[in-house]
Amino acid sequence: MSTIIENAQKNGRKYLNEIESKQLLKEAGVPTTDTRLAKSRDEAIAFAKEIGFPAVLKVISPDIVHKSDIGGVKLGLGDGAAVGKAYDEIIATVKSKRPGVKIDGASVQTMAKPGVEVIIGVSKDRQFGPVLMFGMGGILVELLKDVSFRIVPITRYDAHEMIKEMKSFPLLEGYRGSESASIEALEDMLLKVSELAARTPEIKELDLNPVFARRDDAIAVDARIILE
Ligand code: ADP
Ligand code: MG
Repeated sequence: MSTIIENAQKNGRKYLNEIESKQLLKEAGVPTTDTRLAKSRDEAIAFAKEIGFPAVLKVISPDIVHKSDIGGVKLGLGDGAAVGKAYDEIIATVKSKRPGVKIDGASVQTMAKPGVEVIIGVSKDRQFGPVLMFGMGGILVELLKDVSFRIVPITRYDAHEMIKEMKSFPLLEGYRGSESASIEALEDMLLKVSELAARTPEIKELDLNPVFARRDDAIAVDARIILE
């Protein structure tokens, strides 16, 4: 079992934060943004300088699932001063909006180049076990319920079909001059997530929301995992 899961279980936690989730995904071969936990303003600045600008900062708390809802995400930070200010603002805003929550610090990560936003998820069916989900991100998935499901484990052919049966598949092919996304990179990611879910019964739910599907690759910029 991964030490990340073991650690969380030892501490009685059922929720892997963004950093732990991304670490587990990285071990499983799923590309994610390079992400580190900063416990102070100075640490955040130092990490951002190592990782490179523009940087992104997000609150890390065992009590917060939706980070941007409460002002816990700051994008496009151009230099050390902007990172320092963002760190202080995130901590202050989260504290005022959710008094009493435990705050571990902030994740410092690279600002990923944009792509088509998609979602990859895993949930558990009582009868069939882990089920893999692929969907279009943003408002499209809410409006169109544009998602596909397969029971884990999947083959590359399954992954291909999951992507192609989207109503909004043309968006991935580059609709009206917008940039196309690498279907192969999305298939790879679906396969890796499927393998991870199949061999890790401790995972109850997994959410990559969003994944940026780009011309030559795909990268998860947010991740969360819930344990059994
Ligand atoms: P939430 O907990 O609210 O879902 P996210 O981590 O998904 O927070 O961040 C909110 C939005 O910010 C994402 O949907 C994405 O568009 C953008 N975003 C988050 N992280 C990055 C990143 N590393 N690079 C570029 N954009 C990002
Ligand atoms: Mg998200």
